[in-house]
Amino acid sequence: MRKSIHSKSTKDQSESTNPVSRRSFLMTSIALSLGIPGCFNPQVTKNPVEPTATDKNKPQPPSKQPQPPSASNDVIYYTRNDAEYATYKQPFNKRIQASPKVIAVCLNEKGVQHAVRYARYYKLPIAIKSGGHSFEGYSVNDDGLVIELSRMNKLSYDPASKTVTAQPGCKLADVYEYLAKFNRLLPAGSCGGVGVAGLTLGGGYGFFSRKMGLTCDNLLHTRLVDGKGSLHKTANNPELLWGSKGGGNGNYGVTTQFVFKTHPAPRNFTSYLYKFYQLDSVKAKELARFWFEQMKTLPNTCYGSYILGHKTLTILVTDTEEQPTPVLSALLNKFKAKASRTYSPSKRPLLEALQRYQGRSGPLYFKNVSAGYYRSFADLDKVFISVHQRMRKQRGMLLQINTLGGAINNPQLEASAAYPHRKELFLGELQVYWDKASQIAKAVKSVQEIQTMFTKSGITKHYRNYPDIDLPNWQQAYYGDNYARLQGLKRKYDPDNVFQHPQSVTS
Ligand SMILES: Cc1cc2nc3c(=O)[nH]c(=O)nc-3n(C[C@H](O)[C@H](O)[C@H](O)COP(=O)(O)OP(=O)(O)OC[C@H]3O[C@@H](n4cnc5c(N)ncnc54)[C@H](O)[C@@H]3O)c2cc1C
Repeated sequence: MRKSIHSKSTKDQSESTNPVSRRSFLMTSIALSLGIPGCFNPQVTKNPVEPTATDKNKPQPPSKQPQPPSASNDVIYYTRNDAEYATYKQPFNKRIQASPKVIAVCLNEKGVQHAVRYARYYKLPIAIKSGGHSFEGYSVNDDGLVIELSRMNKLSYDPASKTVTAQPGCKLADVYEYLAKFNRLLPAGSCGGVGVAGLTLGGGYGFFSRKMGLTCDNLLHTRLVDGKGSLHKTANNPELLWGSKGGGNGNYGVTTQFVFKTHPAPRNFTSYLYKFYQLDSVKAKELARFWFEQMKTLPNTCYGSYILGHKTLTILVTDTEEQPTPVLSALLNKFKAKASRTYSPSKRPLLEALQRYQGRSGPLYFKNVSAGYYRSFADLDKVFISVHQRMRKQRGMLLQINTLGGAINNPQLEASAAYPHRKELFLGELQVYWDKASQIAKAVKSVQEIQTMFTKSGITKHYRNYPDIDLPNWQQAYYGDNYARLQGLKRKYDPDNVFQHPQSVTS
């Protein structure tokens, strides 16, 4: 059923170079943020590569095909023998060990067009890599071409329109830092290393979404290179803009530019943290029910997380108001009354606070998946205890539930974006982290078994940006009724299916 362009090899030669402790896994999960990979800067522009002798069994281009694209200064092509290849190949998830035939490091939009034509000529499927944070490694492939966009990382703010233009290689940390100079903010995710491209094209939620909407709700224009290498602008193309808001991850083209509206930056950002120790599954469930109930009154300036490990629960509430409202104070007091430990509130200037959520720079071993959208605790009631008991058999496993709602749940936005699950008020994320390649199979099996429990209990809607390669009926789970409309975009912009990954839209 799944296309086999992905390697699931358990081999890893660099295993000993970047051990990650369990504690740092937990911190990573709570902080949900990691550093920015170093920027490589090769000096030499290479000519496109010809297929090697090992390709001779593959179908070669017929003699009447167009000539191979001539050399270009807009893109650098690396193959397996190049030293730089390894730097650009590895995604954030160390579990993914893919081996593309060619990595096209694009320096500008023309470079992207060149790379698409190059891939077409040599009949290579294309994966698109911006921030490289796809949970399942959908931005790399085996034996295909990867369009690598990390060098296209310019930002520019227009004070007149209060918009920011971002190239796809920009990371969230860059965007937050850049806009802070103008006292502006783009609502986005919490992890600094995530690419603004992949985040936006799949939706994008975080600390500020309940007040300012999803990242994709703030998208005004994009530019896209399609499956033939042609350029399209969304200014006069509302359908293409609609698809870019939650339905554009590697499906039918390369988004080469994003223009966002921005918001006034809150001056400060406050975190409230509570810990609950020595929990069994019954107690964890009772606290989950309690948390869901309290989140009903959470002000829209706030974000909340319920993060459950084997025996410890962490509850995080954040706020962008200068002082907690009486409603928030009452809610926080209820957590304080029950918690084993209450931390002092941490109020910091916005950028400093966000930087504290940028943890490790990876790559890390992990398997994270969407554990479903929920309207209320009732959606989890029946399955909660069995899920937690299964979690406790797997070291390093966490169930994190985050608040949505607020501005996301605005019915007027329903028609404007391919993102389909606005009415869902909570999003679950199942996470497992480990240290060694030898632990992959057990960890993956644990996730698969728990996901099956969720599916059997009727949890079938999932977040596209938290993909699970084993999810049945992922088309409906990620895109709901919008899948058919995305197929229309696929037919129009990529009828030959040159852009593909294991869960890409097909016509
Ligand atoms: C540590 C961590 C923290 C996270 N925190 C959050 C969070 O707070 N909020 C949230 O909403 N999500 C979060 N995510 C999920 C994140 O939104 C997705 O992983 C996102 O797709 C990553 O984008 P990227 O550009 O870094 O990834 P990539 O791996 O480069 O790409 C991800 C997907 O988008 C496609 N794609 C990338 N660039 C383009 C492009 N220019 N044109 C077309 N398709 C493209 C790729 O084909 C791939 O399918 C987090 C992920 C991680 C690993």
